[in-house]
Amino acid sequence: YNAKKPGIEFCFYSAQMNQKLQERTRLEFELWMALEREEFFLEYQPIMDARTGRIAAVEALVRWMSPEKGRVMPDSFIPLAEATGIIVPLGEWVLKTACTKLRQWLDAGCLPIRMSVNISGCHFMRSELCRMVEEAAEQTGVDLGLLELELTETCLVKDVEETAAKLWYLKGLNVSIGIDDFGTGYSSLQYLKNFPIDHLKIDRAFIKNVCELPDERAIVEAIIGIAKAMELHVIAEGVETLEQAQYLAHRGCDELQGYYYHRPLSEERLLEVLREERERFEQGTVGGACEA
Ligand code: C2E
Ligand code: MG
Ligand code: MG
Ligand code: MG
Repeated sequence: YNAKKPGIEFCFYSAQMNQKLQERTRLEFELWMALEREEFFLEYQPIMDARTGRIAAVEALVRWMSPEKGRVMPDSFIPLAEATGIIVPLGEWVLKTACTKLRQWLDAGCLPIRMSVNISGCHFMRSELCRMVEEAAEQTGVDLGLLELELTETCLVKDVEETAAKLWYLKGLNVSIGIDDFGTGYSSLQYLKNFPIDHLKIDRAFIKNVCELPDERAIVEAIIGIAKAMELHVIAEGVETLEQAQYLAHRGCDELQGYYYHRPLSEERLLEVLREERERFEQGTVGGACEA
């Protein structure tokens, strides 16, 4: 800071701020346009049953095909979508698209799999999520027993009573509730007891070095222990190696998701993978990480 030239200093700072703000405003505008022009699309990452080695579910992951920027990943636009409220119509689009697709796949003869949809905390808190879910079911005819919502820990701790009411309502609709990125939020383990949670998804940060670092292993085993004791399903995300898959399966993880199995796939590729899996299964050449 140069006391003799405060003006210059100030101008520099303010120009930078201004540019940031302009970028943000432009991006916000682009996101609204993207919704309008239907530039968002979904990819689907398979979640494997650790015991049978079959695809038990897919997670819908949103991407944005921007005319200027090309393919944009969610970490670059979800935070702004959350801050501006765009996440509510975007989340609704994701939910309805995911339900529509699942229904189409099942109608086309695909074996039942679950569809997992990420719900932002602010979306969960602010809007009438339950009505949106009911609407999605009415409009698409999807069996809500196959829908699961991934919430994060932070989104559950805000207003405990309202959260509980919403979760029980969703439960009544037969929707499953999972906690995403488990272990990285502000965990008060209390909510596991009070809320109707069906599964925990161990954050991939803990999986990364689970085979090398005893501390990571201790955390992962503790999470699996809690899940088992409370009769929750436990899923590991970010599984990248056979070693990790075998370790997690032997420790009792129910489902495994990660690049070791599949990256997020386009709809076309997913349908191919499901078809191939079915053929292999009919020939009896499929096995889970437990048997590997
Ligand atoms: P998430 O829900 O925890 O999703 C998992 C992320 O990890 C995905 O990144 C996925 O591609 C990535 N991943 C999966 N397996 C592996 C692996 O083996 N190794 C590594 N390094 N990464 C793996 P993606 O698609 O970029 O999504 C990032 C985050 O954006 C998601 O994290 C989720 O929080 C958010 N997101 C994605 N789609 C939606 C959506 O439709 N709505 C909301 N609200 N959030 C979404
Ligand atoms: Mg997720
Ligand atoms: Mg996750
Ligand atoms: Mg994550």
